[in-house]
Amino acid sequence: MNYRHAFHAGNFADVVKHLILTRIVVYLKRKPAAFRVIDTHAGIGRYDLGSDEAARSPEWQDGIGRLLATGLPPAAADLAAPYLEVVRGENPDGELTTYPGSPLLVRRLLRPQDRLSALELHPDDAAALKALFAGDVQTRVIHLDGWLALHAHLPPKERRGLVLVDPPFEADGEFARLVDGLGKAHGKFATGIYALWYPLKQPAAVAAFVAALRASGIPRMLRAELSLRPPAEPPRLHGTGMIIVNPPHTLATELTVLLPALAAVLGDEGRGRHRIEWIRGED
Ligand code: SAM
Repeated sequence: MNYRHAFHAGNFADVVKHLILTRIVVYLKRKPAAFRVIDTHAGIGRYDLGSDEAARSPEWQDGIGRLLATGLPPAAADLAAPYLEVVRGENPDGELTTYPGSPLLVRRLLRPQDRLSALELHPDDAAALKALFAGDVQTRVIHLDGWLALHAHLPPKERRGLVLVDPPFEADGEFARLVDGLGKAHGKFATGIYALWYPLKQPAAVAAFVAALRASGIPRMLRAELSLRPPAEPPRLHGTGMIIVNPPHTLATELTVLLPALAAVLGDEGRGRHRIEWIRGED
């Protein structure tokens, strides 16, 4: 396991992913019933933007750094507010030095009745995450393969909630594992919301992934993507994608406001683009 998220924390892909995540959690809080968030590839939860890793690869400067410096038009800013409040809350002095990863972001948004299960396989990262949430009765950190938890931990006893699957894509076959994992998870928890992250790097691989999802028979799948620039040869990361299964009925409309505004801020010299598309079954 070579992947270290500290090199990428707060980059454009984190920003888009974490904004979508926040909008889903905000929606879940509309009803008083408790929910659970399961984060299958959680990372360490809190990233020091002054660390060696972040300094060697300062991707956050073109992500959260640029978003905070530039801002968003009013409607998009309203939708981004809960996310940015958490980011600002981690940086009380006003200077951006710390970035909250997905488990910390989710935890900051939970109510007393809600729960978080965070899985992480890297031993150092799992230990860091356990230390971060030590003594927190609402959060369970588990040092385990997140792919196993995708079905072993479902359905949650709350019978309401969100599963975030955010693998590192360092090994071949991650797209196939996402399709397979979703199929198994959906078989056990069909009403859950699932958010699956994927990189925009090789268009053919993404097309095959989307075709496999379409063929899976799972209804209600939304595809949300943001690219910084057109694809390149040889392939390099040019954008970020998320499949949302059973999205809140508000999400597609919210993303039509958020994603173009983000593409304008984060895109590479005006070349940012977005896509919002139902893969299967709009309601
Ligand atoms: N979700 C995090 C966030 O948004 O802040 C970032 C996660 S990062 C993209 C992927 C993480 O998955 C890394 O911390 C890596 O150590 C971990 N990982 C890799 N393989 C795993 C597996 N099979 N099960 C659980 N975690 C895994």
